[in-house]
Amino acid sequence: MKAIQITAPFQAEITEVPKPELTAPDDVIIRVTSGGICGSDIGIYNGTNSLATYPRLIGHEFGGIVESVGPAVTGIQPGSQAAVDPVISCGKCYACRASRHNVCRNLEVMGVHRDGGFAEYVKAPAKNVHLYHKKLDESLLGLAEPYTIGAQISKRAEIHAGDQVLIMGSGPIGICAMQAAKRRGAKVILSDLVKERLEKAKSMGADETVLVTEENLEERLDQFTAGEGIPVVVDTVCTPASLEDAVRLACPAGRIVCLGLKNQPSSICMADITKKELTIVGSRLNNNCFDEVIAGIEDGSLNPEKLMTQTYHYTEIMDALAMVMEHPKDVLKIVLRFGD
Ligand code: MN
Repeated sequence: MKAIQITAPFQAEITEVPKPELTAPDDVIIRVTSGGICGSDIGIYNGTNSLATYPRLIGHEFGGIVESVGPAVTGIQPGSQAAVDPVISCGKCYACRASRHNVCRNLEVMGVHRDGGFAEYVKAPAKNVHLYHKKLDESLLGLAEPYTIGAQISKRAEIHAGDQVLIMGSGPIGICAMQAAKRRGAKVILSDLVKERLEKAKSMGADETVLVTEENLEERLDQFTAGEGIPVVVDTVCTPASLEDAVRLACPAGRIVCLGLKNQPSSICMADITKKELTIVGSRLNNNCFDEVIAGIEDGSLNPEKLMTQTYHYTEIMDALAMVMEHPKDVLKIVLRFGD
């Protein structure tokens, strides 16, 4: 079968690799129809993803049609539409025992630490395979994963109906987090430097948007919260300064969600954390969020069809990578189509 392999930084190729075969009794083989390109795929391509080893079959956002299942698999029929959770954990370490398998100390993410889903077929354990119940356009089957990042953020911030949430950054993660928070009944304000990204967020349900190059964020937050201050801040900008802003902007008893993966310190002020008794949490990947996301896609509260801004056949991977890198403002989520 054909797959997209990054052999070394800046070397992407369509390569011929063996088609996966059922070996373990709980194996499921999926015929991939759809894969979403993520910032971390770009990081593997351009050599800036510190977790990546080469050569690597990339792709952690993917889905398709169940092709075959091992003898121990129940409830998953060949022919079903499915999304695959790329998070593989050991089940034994402290985090796994604490029901936090997404931060397993032996964590492996398909498409990053081990081969992923930008291939004609992929094999995954049955517990990682999540079925859609309504028929969806095949190009959208890979877009549950980015929404699980948003669902995990809502879970970590304990977002409830009526909560007021600031999401800094209106890229794919910010927009997925916004729709997930809206699905829980929150009111969401997004900030960004790019007008087009905010317009997209608005068209997908953001209550308010702030163009920080032209508007004062603190004044807008004051209006948004009637002077109370913002109780939940989600930082998808992920710079040292954006985390400082989050700590400064959050109101007393506020919660902050941190998503950055940079090894750079932030100059946050300890008194802000103590005096306001802030809760600052990390959010990584997803912890059993696929079924919730599929329910959201099926009830119409999550809109992968609007997240998808371009589609390419997987053989056009070089064009797709060039599009993301050269026109980032025009791209929210590029989908690779697999099959003929
Ligand atoms: Mn991703």
